[in-house]
Amino acid sequence: MEGILALGHFCETHGPCVVLSTQRCKGDPEQGPHSLTVPWCEACQSLELDQALVSRDEYCIYVTTRTPLQQDLAFLLKQATVRSLSCEQEGTLYFGDNERGHVISHSFTVHDSLARGFLRKYTILMLMRDKLHLLNKWTFLLKHIKDIAGILNEYSAKVNEEEQLQRPQRSVRQAQNQPNNTGRSLSQLTGKPAIYAHLHLWFAWLLGCQIIVEKPFSSNLPVPKPSSLLRTLFQEIGQEKFKLIALCILTGKTVDASDPNMLETLYSMLPDPNWVQKADKSKYCKIRKENNWLIDSNVLNPGKTSTLQNEIENALGDARLTESALEPQLTSIVMHWLHIARVLSWCPQMDLKLLQSLNVQKHDIPVLIYWTLNCSDCDKHDSIVKSLYNIYGVS
Ligand SMILES: [Zn+2]
Repeated sequence: MEGILALGHFCETHGPCVVLSTQRCKGDPEQGPHSLTVPWCEACQSLELDQALVSRDEYCIYVTTRTPLQQDLAFLLKQATVRSLSCEQEGTLYFGDNERGHVISHSFTVHDSLARGFLRKYTILMLMRDKLHLLNKWTFLLKHIKDIAGILNEYSAKVNEEEQLQRPQRSVRQAQNQPNNTGRSLSQLTGKPAIYAHLHLWFAWLLGCQIIVEKPFSSNLPVPKPSSLLRTLFQEIGQEKFKLIALCILTGKTVDASDPNMLETLYSMLPDPNWVQKADKSKYCKIRKENNWLIDSNVLNPGKTSTLQNEIENALGDARLTESALEPQLTSIVMHWLHIARVLSWCPQMDLKLLQSLNVQKHDIPVLIYWTLNCSDCDKHDSIVKSLYNIYGVS
């Protein structure tokens, strides 16, 4: 099953049921719509049970029927519709498992002056076997499903407005007195006799779209640096002072030293030494060597050290890592965090789950603010910073 799109509704007589479903098939369907008995009333009606709307593109055909062609799918879709419509509130849901399939659903209302509360509840849902495939379509699907729901709602609002103008009292009376006999089909509610053909075309288009996620590619990979020099500096300067210097370099503060070679070595902790151009000039750390290493800085100690900095310091201080092992180890640590910064820079929406899956914690925020600044444009960077602060409750 590649995926099936369906429209379901809550019938006041029959409860939740499927009104229409669209499938993509490689060839002409071998079977007609199944012969299950399905609820029937004006409100549940769309196409006749033995009727199908069919479109073709060069690869596939798209078949819309009242219920799916296969009996097992009809059952799964019915279950999904019940689940989607049993949620009190309108809105979007993901649910499912490998047995019953995975579902993205969006429930919404259309106006009906004869219904209880003058609204009828509908849902559009997509059912798929493959969870990842489905969730990859999340952003795309929801945008268009919401558009379709919006259009149906708009059509029905117009019909409803006209009805209210023509016979305001009668509608109210009917809704009160005859709650069980007021079912009207979606084509009546929207005033569009061909609404099911429209839905067929929308659903076929959605099923036929290939989602391609374009991920920006940058060929600037960190060049392995002579890490033995960095380890020597780490030992000479001492862990305490090195901590402050590393903090400044990794979070984009200005680091100053009279020895350019030493600076170059320190900047090897960044994926690209050119990042120094985006460092904050107002925060600095000046390193001098007289008898001792002297550091003059206006950068405050943030408390907890970032994961990245900890990993670098652990590698530098770990005597078991030989010179030849230290270099790939440092490169892989830097690459790992560069990867995280890039993911945050191109993902359309950041949330706690994404950050947790990347193992990003609150004390990693300063590093990521600077690293994403070097991976994204200004507007995007502003929204990344805002999201990071919001998610971790930092003001
Ligand atoms: Zn019904």
